Amino acid sequence: MPVLLPSFAADLDAADPLAAFRQEFHIPPGPNGQPSVYLCGNSLGLQPQSARAAVEQEFEAWEQLGVEGHFHGEAPWLHYHETLAAPSARLVGARPLEVVVMNNLTVNLHLLLVTFYRPTAQRYKILMEGGAFPSDQYALESQARLHGLDPAEVIVELMPRPGEHTLRTADIEATIQELGDSLATIIIGGVNYYTGQAFDLAAITRAGHAVGALVGFDLAHAAGNLEMHLHDWDVDFACWCSYKYLNSGPGGTSGVFVHERFAHRPDLLRLAGWWGHDPTDRFQMKKGFRPMPGAAGWQLSNAQIFPMAIHRASLELVDRAGGMAALRRKSEQLTGYLETLIQELGLPSSQLEIITPADPAQRGCQLSVLVHQRGRELFDYLARQGIIADWREPNVIRLAPVPLYNSFQDVARTGAALRQFYHS
Ligand SMILES: *Cc1c(COP(=O)(O)O)cnc(C)c1O
Repeated sequence: MPVLLPSFAADLDAADPLAAFRQEFHIPPGPNGQPSVYLCGNSLGLQPQSARAAVEQEFEAWEQLGVEGHFHGEAPWLHYHETLAAPSARLVGARPLEVVVMNNLTVNLHLLLVTFYRPTAQRYKILMEGGAFPSDQYALESQARLHGLDPAEVIVELMPRPGEHTLRTADIEATIQELGDSLATIIIGGVNYYTGQAFDLAAITRAGHAVGALVGFDLAHAAGNLEMHLHDWDVDFACWCSYKYLNSGPGGTSGVFVHERFAHRPDLLRLAGWWGHDPTDRFQMKKGFRPMPGAAGWQLSNAQIFPMAIHRASLELVDRAGGMAALRRKSEQLTGYLETLIQELGLPSSQLEIITPADPAQRGCQLSVLVHQRGRELFDYLARQGIIADWREPNVIRLAPVPLYNSFQDVARTGAALRQFYHS
């Protein structure tokens, strides 16, 4: 079985064009002193070596320039967020006008829903995935209440068929059709945080538009993980965080996409602040909000330079690696390798099963392993071997080898630890 030979992983690493990027990250040490196998990039990505210098550069500018840092220095703060538009646009397949980096994810989800969830007596329903990340559930419940509506009557949750763990695209499309002109807004995760299922965003957008609904995505687990074409897919709006697959630090800033067709619509209702106002007279401090064109017109506050500095360094790494196409190529191999090693354990599905779809088009880095027996024990065993995974109640272990800093040997170490646990 060549995949079980230690040299197999070493050969893959030697042939990996992205292997050198591992050296650009701080890999936390494991309990045995050697670098841990960090499979938690879906929760908090590791620190790029360049992050500290990026922040220090802004400390230096603040120290040396004070308020003048808004106008001088390498990247003046007045225009700082603009430097993130082009790399963010490349990341999600958008035009620079369609993206802005600001705030945090849940905040941005609310800001977008203020504009893109406008219920009427006829059209008021929201379609989301069942078992969505709790913050999204709370956000949508409170959005319904904001309009004086009962969340139980507004929110429709997509559920897998009995005995299945993930959703079928055809079932999602059928539900959308059924909801028809009662459906106001669809908001689904690009990748489900629990199962690791990647949804067909183009198909969902088409189906939503066909019934006259607006379609948005929470890309927390998709950004930096999947190749996307939000503009071409005609997605209306989206947001994502930067601290998972985008390695921009705990609580890092968030990205927003608003399709170009809304770029010149100052009439669209939104919560407004001075940073979204037409910059030509932003400092005249006059009454009467006039939004900037594009996603930038949804900004409220002046840019958070420190988290954005880290994000800028992180996006620079993604570009240097060749963008999402290159990362995705390695990612499919890494995750496929992990899947093979888990299958090689030969365990019955009554004991352990991968609930993430086997089709690479329906998943990103992450494999979610449903452990029916001794789950917590397995998780703790992995931790003692320096393998940092993630435990989700009641019995799922999420493993996410990421292409920027995980190696094939990381995956091989994980496979070896699993074999030891089950077969020794
Ligand atoms: C990680 C995650 C969040 C976290 O929201 P923050 O506002 O960044 O704290 C929200 N939604 C989803 C789907 C997530 O995966």
